[in-house]
Amino acid sequence: MKEFDYIIIGGGCAGLSLAYELEINEKLRNKTLAIIEPRAKYKKDKTWSFWKTTSHNFNDCVKKSWENFSIHIPQETNHLECINYPYQSVDSGLFYEKINNKLKENKNISIFKNISEINSENSFVFNSVPSIKENDHNLWQHFCGVEIETQNNFFDDEIFNLMDFNCDQRESVHFFYTLPYSKNKALIETTWLSKINDNSQKDYDIQIKNYIENNLNLRNYRIIYKEEGAIPLFYPSYKIEKNKINIGTAGGMTRLSTGYTFLNIQEHSKYICKNIENISKTKRFEISKKYQFLDNIFLKVLEKHPEKMPEIFFKMFKSPPKTIIKFLSNKSNFFEDLSIIFKMPKTTFIKALFY
Ligand SMILES: Cc1cc2nc3c(=O)[nH]c(=O)nc-3n(C[C@H](O)[C@H](O)[C@H](O)COP(=O)(O)OP(=O)(O)OC[C@H]3O[C@@H](n4cnc5c(N)ncnc54)[C@H](O)[C@@H]3O)c2cc1C
Repeated sequence: MKEFDYIIIGGGCAGLSLAYELEINEKLRNKTLAIIEPRAKYKKDKTWSFWKTTSHNFNDCVKKSWENFSIHIPQETNHLECINYPYQSVDSGLFYEKINNKLKENKNISIFKNISEINSENSFVFNSVPSIKENDHNLWQHFCGVEIETQNNFFDDEIFNLMDFNCDQRESVHFFYTLPYSKNKALIETTWLSKINDNSQKDYDIQIKNYIENNLNLRNYRIIYKEEGAIPLFYPSYKIEKNKINIGTAGGMTRLSTGYTFLNIQEHSKYICKNIENISKTKRFEISKKYQFLDNIFLKVLEKHPEKMPEIFFKMFKSPPKTIIKFLSNKSNFFEDLSIIFKMPKTTFIKALFY
């Protein structure tokens, strides 16, 4: 069976981002790479959005970018600007196409459906398939979004809505998220932060219909695309192995308080590429311990006091937008962290240290 210098398990966001980074930096000129991906055909299945706090390779896959956003809780709305760090939405369909076209040019890159088709004994492995054990206590961000098209111009496409808590909470944390791509097209997502075993929250189609018709007061529309998913708000388990690095969700690239993963994946890919010649001896890349610690407390509060979360999120965004965006994107300094921490209800958060 054929052997390869590198193997990437999973040709999704992290696997393809890494392969692309290695390819454009000519790290695969004299090295061979096998990508293991079971899907028969690539099609758009996700929209990755984030505040652009660092550069990435996929500006040409950005569907839309915004410099303004809003947060709603019942009776109150906050409008914020994000001119320094625009919010971008990457179309996964364009992303897959761009990368796969590039990778095809290099004969040293091969794609297989199953790892059993190759000899992996002497390869360095980058694994993006998470090992997730069933656990009733784990929190997830689970959601369903639909892209709709309206008959007439309806949306203000200059501003997106990050969170609208003006909806049924069902003793959990629930909000709607609206990304207006144009005046007559928008992605509308119902999002829950909760334990995934609770199927009572998965009547997504009804939630979205009610929101569109009753909150947005929109009747004439049609659904042109749908996406559904769940992001673990905990780190998948893995054992440290000398010839293996986990990447993507499997590699702990999700910011647990927000679910944002895309830009962390891009930074991880750049880090691996920079150190590829000495990768087995290089220090493992991770989201800084400071954020792991703060997110852990935040999630404890979320679990214990879901009813307080709309207010907590709203208060968080009372900080200057630049500060909060840097904090949520792992780019804040000590003083910025403090200014956010001081916005939080102190007793609730201090108590959470001891749960
Ligand atoms: C619907 C959705 C929307 C999201 N939106 C955002 C967002 O807006 N912003 C953000 O920052 N993050 C977002 N995320 C979180 C995160 O960015 C994505 O989940 C991202 O795709 C993670 O990349 P990944 O490579 O770890 O996983 P994936 O992209 O899921 O890739 C894993 C790959 O492994 C393959 N695979 C599965 N089993 C095997 C196997 N046994 N062997 C080999 N390959 C296998 C799969 O087919 C897949 O291609 C979203 C997640 C989902 C699910």
